[in-house]
Amino acid sequence: MTGLWQRTADRMREELGQVGYETWIGPLKFIAQQETTVTLEAPNRFFRDWINERYLDLLRRALAAEAGEEMEINLTLGNGGVAALQQAHKNGNGTASGNGHSNGHGNGKVAAPRGSTSDGGRGDRHPQFNPRYTFAEFVVGSANQFAHAAAQAVANQPGEKYNPLFIYGGVGLGKTHLVTAIGHRIWTTGDRPRKVLFMPAEIFMNELINSLRRDKMGEFREKFRRVDTLILDDVQFLAGRERTQEEFFHTFNALHAERHQIVLTSDKVPREIPGLEERLRNRFESGLIADIAPPDLETRVAIIQKKAVLENLKLAPEVTMYIAQSVSSNVRELEGCLTRLGALASLNKAAITVEFARQALHDLIRNHDAKPDVDSIQKTVSDFFHIRLTDLKSKKRTQHIAFCRQVAMYLSRKLTDASFPTIGDHFGRDHSTVIHAYNLILRRVSSDSAFRLSIEKIERELKSVRNAA
Ligand code: ADP
Ligand code: MG
Repeated sequence: MTGLWQRTADRMREELGQVGYETWIGPLKFIAQQETTVTLEAPNRFFRDWINERYLDLLRRALAAEAGEEMEINLTLGNGGVAALQQAHKNGNGTASGNGHSNGHGNGKVAAPRGSTSDGGRGDRHPQFNPRYTFAEFVVGSANQFAHAAAQAVANQPGEKYNPLFIYGGVGLGKTHLVTAIGHRIWTTGDRPRKVLFMPAEIFMNELINSLRRDKMGEFREKFRRVDTLILDDVQFLAGRERTQEEFFHTFNALHAERHQIVLTSDKVPREIPGLEERLRNRFESGLIADIAPPDLETRVAIIQKKAVLENLKLAPEVTMYIAQSVSSNVRELEGCLTRLGALASLNKAAITVEFARQALHDLIRNHDAKPDVDSIQKTVSDFFHIRLTDLKSKKRTQHIAFCRQVAMYLSRKLTDASFPTIGDHFGRDHSTVIHAYNLILRRVSSDSAFRLSIEKIERELKSVRNAA
């Protein structure tokens, strides 16, 4: 073990305390240091994922502090995992820096592809895309059925069916997974190798800025217009970036004219992305738009079962059900629960019972029994919309404030046991105003899935507020 790692480990012991240190840092094995990259070995994949998710930044900082310069950490796996990781490394995904890049999805698994074209000898997966993100690993349920069908149609007939395909939905619901699956499929099928480019929109923007700075716009355009399929992830990041949008507009048109497939994802429908130019919005709306909603209970069970098999984790049906019922929506959170369970079970060599799961996950899992009260709803809603609580409760009738108030009334009725008149009291209004607000918002929630997603976001925030309390 080098002195550097020893000193870093000591520093981590101070940061985490003895128990945290023994649980998470002690089991890491120092393998090698090459220039500014330190390679550590984690005992298993669960452990590695967990470190990536929770401790990588801390670890990197501690290492940099001891080394006196920026350091990278390469987290490998003991035995079986090494080969896979080396493969990923060759493809440029090896350093476990998924979190460092702000594509918002780096939860530290083998990092999402950074964007690169490829052709030549084809395997069954695109070598530079996340190997887990295939159709085979995607669980279909009522909430993602339509998006899944659209993705398959596009993957089987790129450029011919829906162009562009625009998939939107909340965080951690499988957008990146699904569009990467399209990329794998397009790359592996067809009569000729196709150039498939996957890129987070933020990286597109960075590359554009760099090309502008270095006077390399010719190359930049060439790179993007040469591809057969362009997958741009999280296009909401283009919002408000005029130069990037302009460039992307031309890229889009060039590809579209040649009937090359374009696939886009976003957290919102095009018309709700603030600061998105109208002409680009029109392009985005010109193909097929599909949403992914949070998975229902059945789908969550199916996802847990599938992941447990993939991770070689034995879960009794009641444990599966417990997790499925406890984690309400986000699939990434669900995976986080499994990761932690697997890590703790393998460290403690314990069987996973419901009680074990409850203890292991108590801080990840929401308390469904506790109900929010009208006051906390008012507070959360006003925070969410960035208005003052006093305005929310005032008689002000400006459109925005009135709207926020209606949302708060709706949620109060939906989430608490308070009657319409009682809710009215909290807002200094009579019950008929509350009923009107409730019906208005309810209609919109049922007819407008993007709006529903926003409301669900507030509900989630309410839950996390309660859990923190
Ligand atoms: P998003 O891009 O919508 O934020 P991701 O595609 O990154 O979400 O998905 C988050 C995690 O959840 C990924 O690890 C992904 O594999 C997993 N996931 C999401 N939906 C599904 C699904 N339907 N079946 C299997 N795994 C899923
Ligand atoms: Mg994503």
